Amino acid sequence: MQLCDINTVRELMEKYGLTLKKSYGQNFLINPEVPRRIAESSRSFADCDKPAGVIEIGPGVGALTQYLCQEYDKVLAIELDRGLIPLLHEALGEYDNYKVLEADFMKTDLASLIDEHFRDITDNGGTVSICANLPYYITSPVIMKIFESFEPDRKIPLSSVVVMIQLEVAQRIVSRPGSNEYGAITASIGLYADSKKLFDVSPGNFLPPPKVRSAVVSMIPHGGIKEIYPDFTGEKNEIAEFSESVRETIALAFGQRRKTLINSMSSKYSKEKTLKVLEQCGIRGDIRGEKLSSYDFCKITHMLKYI
Ligand code: SAM
Repeated sequence: MQLCDINTVRELMEKYGLTLKKSYGQNFLINPEVPRRIAESSRSFADCDKPAGVIEIGPGVGALTQYLCQEYDKVLAIELDRGLIPLLHEALGEYDNYKVLEADFMKTDLASLIDEHFRDITDNGGTVSICANLPYYITSPVIMKIFESFEPDRKIPLSSVVVMIQLEVAQRIVSRPGSNEYGAITASIGLYADSKKLFDVSPGNFLPPPKVRSAVVSMIPHGGIKEIYPDFTGEKNEIAEFSESVRETIALAFGQRRKTLINSMSSKYSKEKTLKVLEQCGIRGDIRGEKLSSYDFCKITHMLKYI
């Protein structure tokens, strides 16, 4: 079935008595080249000689799901809109390697889902990825949920997270400390993964066209806090606590933009203490959060809380 054909999408929606829901961020892909490229990029990050599974968030009418079914051994598609479930089974009728789960991704237990649906793949040396054309209204919460779903003392068991998001958010995610786009989301994701922008996608590729431009980004999990900040050598529980503290420092630092770190942290730590820690870290006293890397946030938190 031509799932990226605008008439097919309209006919399917009509047949199942559905209308596009703006509140669910439903902008469906209508140019097959885009989902094909997203699926191929996603698969390219996993070992081609090993079995591989993928979780898709928000399959819609299956535009991307069909290409994921072609690229991967197993696809688990999680869709919030109940009305789309029977439609998806008709649309994906030619594939037998997918499963659709009706759920709000934000309420799922990602680690358990991987264990439950992909154990045959992981037990055979394979990997699991996440791939999606995300609903833009919850981009940041979805991405943070993905990374925060796993034990902070272990490597995240995902080969990649490849998602289409709003271009502006993509630019923030891949920006460097000190640039205008750098923000809490950049420093937070940096605690878990290395991010890269893969390609841009213009509004004309969607039904309906969104008001913003889009881009596809890859986030490849690294070894987490243990890798980027090996100076912290706590036990499992301590690493979990430390990881939470670093995220709190990042949230405080970016809570009031254009304030120096010392001022934005003053609700939690005295200005004298923060200044002393910054001096010990070799960082200027008037620094702002926008200039600090994920590593800097780990080091500052470590010194503030534990030393
Ligand atoms: N993958 C399809 C495509 O590329 O054409 C649809 C992408 S559309 C931008 C986002 C999809 O996510 C919609 O199908 C929407 O119903 C679904 N969605 C929205 N919020 C969700 C949530 N919290 N959990 C799971 N799916 C969600």
